[in-house]
Amino acid sequence: MDFKKVVRTVFFIEILKGMALTLKTLFTRPVTLRYPEVPRQPKPGFRGLHALVREADGRERCIACGLCAAICPSQCISIHTGEAPDGRKVAERYEIEVLRCTFCAFCVEACPVGAVVLTEHFEYANYSRDDFWMTKEKLLQNWDTFMAGEKGREYLKRFWLPKATAFGGYEGQAVFRPKGKKEAAGA
Ligand code: SF4
Ligand code: SF4
Repeated sequence: MDFKKVVRTVFFIEILKGMALTLKTLFTRPVTLRYPEVPRQPKPGFRGLHALVREADGRERCIACGLCAAICPSQCISIHTGEAPDGRKVAERYEIEVLRCTFCAFCVEACPVGAVVLTEHFEYANYSRDDFWMTKEKLLQNWDTFMAGEKGREYLKRFWLPKATAFGGYEGQAVFRPKGKKEAAGA
């Protein structure tokens, strides 16, 4: 056995180093939170439960084009279209099976009018599968509860990609842009 190893073993150097580290961390601020007693505020753009945008006059913004359902890789959005009394095309039924969703946000990016969003709400664990079947009414209610007002406006400005071509997402994130448009400088 070499001399250095003998000294380290005899004087418990590694154990002393470990104890010093333990002692040091005793007096530093913890990086963990005592969730759920201490709630954690998600960062802007966090991909939580879906919502359908409701306009200030109470109408839903969705024009039932079906692009979100077409692009969804999990095929968890289903839309049944109909006609409003004024002749507009509307989604009679708009449903998302949240348990199959991968929270990729493609639906948000693909929507031509910014009618579907992902809220910051993530505490929706439950025992019943039915609670994860989001109907149009539930999705509109999610907008009222989590995104109404300035929060929703800010979200769409930053994270709805057909408009926000200067979106600064993480490296490698899929970004959809109108054909022929290059990424804005500094994005
Ligand atoms: S976030 Fe992705 S997987 Fe979930 S509904 Fe939207 S497109 Fe589908
Ligand atoms: S949410 Fe957007 S993409 Fe989906 S059907 Fe409505 S308007 Fe079209």
